[in-house]
Amino acid sequence: MEQIQGVVSVAGEKRILSEEECGFWEAAWDDGICVQEPKQTDDKACVWQHGAEDGVCLQFAAKSRNESFARMVAAAYAAQLNPTLEELSDIKTAVSEAVTNAVIHGYGEGDGTICMRLGIYGREVWIEVEDRGAGMEDVLAAMEPMYTTRADMERSGMGFAFMEAFMDKLEVYSQKNRGTLVRMKKKVLAGSAETGEDAGGAKACEAGKDGKEDKSSEEK
Ligand code: ATP
Ligand code: MG
Repeated sequence: MEQIQGVVSVAGEKRILSEEECGFWEAAWDDGICVQEPKQTDDKACVWQHGAEDGVCLQFAAKSRNESFARMVAAAYAAQLNPTLEELSDIKTAVSEAVTNAVIHGYGEGDGTICMRLGIYGREVWIEVEDRGAGMEDVLAAMEPMYTTRADMERSGMGFAFMEAFMDKLEVYSQKNRGTLVRMKKKVLAGSAETGEDAGGAKACEAGKDGKEDKSSEEK
């Protein structure tokens, strides 16, 4: 079987993970992690691994039309932290890119299922997007800006670069012919002037609904 690979990127610094550090994903693969209870904390593959409460798991068909649904769900979930409009927009962009990648590259626009998991720890939103599709030959190369294997589809190779730029942490795990797990973290600043602690959540959520200021992949 092809070797499992993992890369973590923080503030533009990338580090290749050892096989051992990627091992948790292997263990979780057969366990139907998408259907487990959010509060089950002993599975390290899960975004709720540190005991985040009220986690959300969304499983959906790998169709392009579901991409906007997934990013709205992520934005609505993050809205409970009263993010600024810019923070919300960043989260939506990153989710869009990850889901689009799963649809286009993971499943080659064929049938498949995508699992998105959401968790909150303090002021941090954690998001995982996972597919069981084609996987990647070389994760580090794939994360290079302007690297694309689908130049024929006029892809620009900037999806991972956007995820890195808009989120505070990006982890990518992939194995050829097995699938890909993208995990992202965004720290939401507390009680910003723009949203305020009380009314801000609803306001931000409203903004999310009409998609204003949204840097989605279609608009690139
Ligand atoms: P863009 O996102 O700008 O439209 P792109 O999708 O090619 O172009 P990235 O999102 O940065 O660019 O992805 C880079 C490459 O990584 C892809 O071309 C593809 O080869 C690979 N890749 C990304 N996500 C997946 C995935 N879920 N499954 C398999 N391969 C992937
Ligand atoms: Mg992409």
